[in-house]
Amino acid sequence: MKEIKALLAGRIFTPTEDIPDGVILIDGHRILKVGPREKVQIPKSAPVIDDRDRLVVPGFVDMHIHGAGGRDLMEGTADAVAAVAQFLARHGITSFLATTVTARLDRTLSAVEGLAKIVSAAERSQGGSEKAPGAQPLGIHFEGPFISQVRRGAQPAAHIRKPSIEIAERLLDAAGNSAKVAVLAPELPRALELLKFFRSRGLRVGLGHSDATFDETVRAIDAGATHATHCYNGMRPFTHRDPGIVGAVLTDDRVSAELIADGVHVEPAAVRLLARSKGLERVILVSDAVSAAGMPDGKYRLGGFPVLVTGGVCRTEEGALAGSTATLDATVRNLAAFTGASFQSCVACATLNPARLLGIEKQKGVIAAGADADLVVLDKNHYVTQTYVRGRAVL
Ligand SMILES: [Zn+2]
Repeated sequence: MKEIKALLAGRIFTPTEDIPDGVILIDGHRILKVGPREKVQIPKSAPVIDDRDRLVVPGFVDMHIHGAGGRDLMEGTADAVAAVAQFLARHGITSFLATTVTARLDRTLSAVEGLAKIVSAAERSQGGSEKAPGAQPLGIHFEGPFISQVRRGAQPAAHIRKPSIEIAERLLDAAGNSAKVAVLAPELPRALELLKFFRSRGLRVGLGHSDATFDETVRAIDAGATHATHCYNGMRPFTHRDPGIVGAVLTDDRVSAELIADGVHVEPAAVRLLARSKGLERVILVSDAVSAAGMPDGKYRLGGFPVLVTGGVCRTEEGALAGSTATLDATVRNLAAFTGASFQSCVACATLNPARLLGIEKQKGVIAAGADADLVVLDKNHYVTQTYVRGRAVL
């Protein structure tokens, strides 16, 4: 009981509950207790942090991110991951999946091996021993190489592969326990076989960078696909006579949908359509951020290829959108503004919803006894004033 501290909050979104005038007791890297002040006894010796003029929500979970603060996660080094993690923590993101881009196979394999070691070390450290606490890398999200040439977006055409269990096995061997999510285009030959293989190895499977028809998508959902990868982007467009993958994702409650709510990737009206048809409980905010996030306009690299950022919008040399420069905290504010939904329900889209998809909702994305003490303190305009990563203050 030696390390207990008490955080007093004006309001707490757990995010399913709204607790005015609340207290969170933090014991080392875990939450010991949460509740209204009159119901939570604060130990006499506990230091008290007074945020009674603030809102406290769970730390944001970004399940689709490639880099930030000038560094790319495909570098696969401890140094690069720490730089990204520290940048994210300052924006309220307390955990993330390091996301690959389609690249030469040997390059992907060496990045994944590096990332897997970093993920295991972060898990063992229980709150981190690094000097500046950073967001926790939870695992690896494979974006490519089993995607559609037609809907590749910024992914380089030369390194796209046909679905292959043999290649998938090499990727999973390199990743070990860190492999969490894989993206595939379900219309490709043998895609459903590969989908089932990924599911049998415990991965969640996102449908994306895909030209699938409505029927092809439904068959993939029947086969166990869990979600849509950055819904609308990199997909066959919806029309009323050819609803395609977007039409299937919007109307099938068995899948969640990732959304890049940066105001650039998806128009606000299309965001409202997604929110209404799926319900916000099936919307997962992702940043899809690249190394240029948090950096000035200019030339950057995404995985192996050059990208150009102008006015905060990141594109390839051919002009395709190439990830975003957004941070998840900003997209939560955008989602509330675009949809008019309660801020509490939008917070869930960046916390509980991704945690639930990944099956870690007892530990991440919630403020509950026994969960990791990943917390974000927000001012009245919902800007981050403090972040705690596994109990350690970031700012
Ligand atoms: Zn991406």
